[in-house]
Amino acid sequence: MQKTSISSDQFLSSNLEPFVVVWLRRDLRIEDNHALYAALSTHKNVLPVFIFDTQILNKLEDTTDKRVQFIHDQLRLLNEKLSEQGSAILVLHGNPVSIFKTLPCKAVYTNSDYEPYAKKRDLEVQITLQKRGIDFFDFKDQVIFEKDEILKKDESPYTIFTPYSKQWKLKLTSTGIHPYETQPHFKNLYPTNPIAIPTMEAIGFEETPSTFPDRKIKLKTIQDYHQHRDYPGIEGTSKLSVHLRFGTVSIRKLVQLAITQNETWLNELIWRDFYHMILWHFPKVEKSFKRQYDKIEWRNGEQDFNKWCEGKTGYPLVDAGMRELNETGFMHNRVRMVTASFLTKHLLIDWRWGEAYFAKKLLDFDLAANNGGWQWAAGCGCDAAPYFRVFNPTLQENKFDPDRVYIKKWIPEIDTPQYPKPIVDHAMARDRALETYKMALTNT
Ligand code: FAD
Repeated sequence: MQKTSISSDQFLSSNLEPFVVVWLRRDLRIEDNHALYAALSTHKNVLPVFIFDTQILNKLEDTTDKRVQFIHDQLRLLNEKLSEQGSAILVLHGNPVSIFKTLPCKAVYTNSDYEPYAKKRDLEVQITLQKRGIDFFDFKDQVIFEKDEILKKDESPYTIFTPYSKQWKLKLTSTGIHPYETQPHFKNLYPTNPIAIPTMEAIGFEETPSTFPDRKIKLKTIQDYHQHRDYPGIEGTSKLSVHLRFGTVSIRKLVQLAITQNETWLNELIWRDFYHMILWHFPKVEKSFKRQYDKIEWRNGEQDFNKWCEGKTGYPLVDAGMRELNETGFMHNRVRMVTASFLTKHLLIDWRWGEAYFAKKLLDFDLAANNGGWQWAAGCGCDAAPYFRVFNPTLQENKFDPDRVYIKKWIPEIDTPQYPKPIVDHAMARDRALETYKMALTNT
């Protein structure tokens, strides 16, 4: 029988048993969740809580933001799953620090978030709770190895991927992977009727019906990944990035699979850990990792930038990628590299402009990976491609989309006079980029 929902206000004003909060953020699942496991295996009356953080939401310009819809959909699913266990998720809307000033709870468990804003917020929450005599515990969940777990012999962080990944694999062989089996402890969830989730309108957004990449792992795609991953016209990559971003899949489960199925795919998951580790050690991401690159004199042409955003540069692979991004919130990795290189090298537009545009549009937007990817493409990142390797978008197209399957999908007018002429000549733009970069780097 369907149980009747109560509102969060009704829930909080009822005669509550003292409860232990598991504050979910980038870990929207109840299986193999470290903080949830830690709370459930120590306490009774454990209540999952999610806060629509106004500090984050207020910065989103678009009231039809697909990421907010994705979170909302996932919370509904979580509520259903928890309802099957006789429990619920409490979803609140506000500034987490203010909320934790009054939320009646015995302890707060959460999984670490490594972004600068989250680190600051979590510290403030911890201090607020301490003043109330409430413990705050955080756990590693989002990555396999975090912070200082993998260091060079001299105890400094790695800044080059290959030696880092070797160390990462060695460490994994010695530690192994241990999933956090939450199910046996579900009896310790807080017993309650479902608690209604605030509507999209109530948190300042509109319902935005969207299709999101499937959470299902396609085994064949993983097995063939090394052969197909560079071809945007075929389904050659997992498309799990939005699920990794919001923790609707467990990284431990994926790494276990990667170890047995495909080393190339495993390496991509290690890149993810690598960029999180870099963000932890080098949080000043608004600057170029290699500081001398901040001397580059960008052209920053606004018209060129708008054409790039709209997918109207006259370079089909670039335009197809931008249109895929605008329409779906996803872009294939090979095409992310080509579009980012085109913006920074051909158009000489500051990588931070492109980074911000991707941040606005990508479903899987993640500060660590996005900043890492952009700095890689611009040549200024920690383990970046050398600046003089400028992608030729036409050769990239011939190699990776030879039958124009991807291009035709996203540019219906491709072979008609409606499709724009190139906004810049490749050979001229390449020479101009090399000259500009050289000037900046020799003037140090
Ligand atoms: P798969 O190829 O199946 O890889 C599996 C998972 O590994 C991905 O879901 C992702 O979590 C991780 N991964 C793969 N490649 C990378 C990488 N280079 N760096 C870090 N993690 C990686 N990825 C994001 O998750 N968020 C971003 O905001 C983001 N911005 C990017 C910006 C630029 C300019 C570039 C060049 C790359 C960016 N990437 C970002 C990395 C990569 O493009 C995406 O992770 C990938 O395309 C997602 O598709 P998939 O899930 O099919 O990945």
